[in-house]
Amino acid sequence: MSEKSNLFKQYCKIWSDKFHLDYVIYFLEKCCKEDENKIAYAILDCAACVATIYLSTEEIDKLSSAEIESIAFEEICHLLLTPITYLLNNFYNAEYIIELEHIIINKMKRSHGLCIITPTQQSNQLL
Ligand SMILES: [Zn+2]
Repeated sequence: MSEKSNLFKQYCKIWSDKFHLDYVIYFLEKCCKEDENKIAYAILDCAACVATIYLSTEEIDKLSSAEIESIAFEEICHLLLTPITYLLNNFYNAEYIIELEHIIINKMKRSHGLCIITPTQQSNQLL
């Protein structure tokens, strides 16, 4: 695991603790082939309280510390929101839900003084 991947994990731990998430979080360093253009994404098994965060070491290594914290914060926010977005998936399409999630997450990033990833990066790399 690279130094920047470790930094990403540390930021995930910090924000997970701040939000009092009680999920066990596993990290896997290689995104699936169909998700190669993503830097990171999180999947939560609500029933088991187990989350997996996938990250691309190659992409993480290109980023600044501030960007890494922003991405870690975002993935933890996705985990925080998963129980409600899971329910919304019964009524709305997934793209619409993800768009709304990112609006909320970007407001939370601003309120915490974190950098905002551009919409292009967000839609291509940070879903
Ligand atoms: Zn996202």
